[in-house]
Amino acid sequence: MIRAVDLHKHFGPVEVLKGVSLDVNKGEVIAVIGPSGSGKSTFLRCLIHLETIHRGTIEIEGETLVSTDAGGHCHYAPDADIRRICGKMGMVFQHFNLFPHLTVLQNIIEAPMTVKGMSRDEIVPTAEALLKKVGLFDKRDVFPSRLSGGQKQRVAIARALAMAPDILLFDEPTSALDPELTGEVLRTMRELAEEHMTMVVVTHEMAFAREVASRVIFMDGGNIVEERPAQEFFAAPEHPRTRAFLENML
Ligand code: ATP
Ligand code: MG
Repeated sequence: MIRAVDLHKHFGPVEVLKGVSLDVNKGEVIAVIGPSGSGKSTFLRCLIHLETIHRGTIEIEGETLVSTDAGGHCHYAPDADIRRICGKMGMVFQHFNLFPHLTVLQNIIEAPMTVKGMSRDEIVPTAEALLKKVGLFDKRDVFPSRLSGGQKQRVAIARALAMAPDILLFDEPTSALDPELTGEVLRTMRELAEEHMTMVVVTHEMAFAREVASRVIFMDGGNIVEERPAQEFFAAPEHPRTRAFLENML
């Protein structure tokens, strides 16, 4: 589903991704963990073209978003192709990013209508079904300011799902939430995993990573330092930096 090869990215002189490679198969849940500043968000943002890379290859479902020639020059697909390719993915952010001036339902139907050109009649039943799925049908007509953080994040997940993505990327979806609200969001994500949604999840929730992820990748200093099936990863982390990180977390 996702093939990332040797991704390099710098912000000015600072190299933030130093050759990151990852393959994600259909239905897999990948947990991405690692210390602050290790490049986790940048990696996700490059996959969905919120940032550009300077070297490497990204393929999404077999289509090339960007590739690099033998001379080291990066070539992005034409804009229309980029939109189509990236449209296969949805992203959920730490800070929800809901539109404050739109109701819950309006937040969910906005992109399907404006980006996909769907009619209101077409998308509203889907949006309502998604609200039921995340347990928020009764909040259909309220504004985001009236929701708890956990409810906002579940709306954000429903909004991403309304675009019918094949892949969902999550960047610390529970980090802005009070501890008692993280459970409801993780439950929703767990249900998606059980439905075999392909997911890449940057998270500090080690229990979620252990129980839900098929594989865990540990990033440090712009590199993937360790990549293992989740059970093995937590049972016997190999790299000293992984071990040190986990000792701090658990
Ligand atoms: P955290 O756990 O704190 O979210 P992260 O692993 O997601 O960290 P990134 O946000 O990917 O880390 O940042 C990696 C490095 O890139 C950091 O050193 C950060 O300061 C730098 N960086 C990120 N975005 C930008 C930007 N837009 N301009 C300049 N530097 C940036
Ligand atoms: Mg981050």
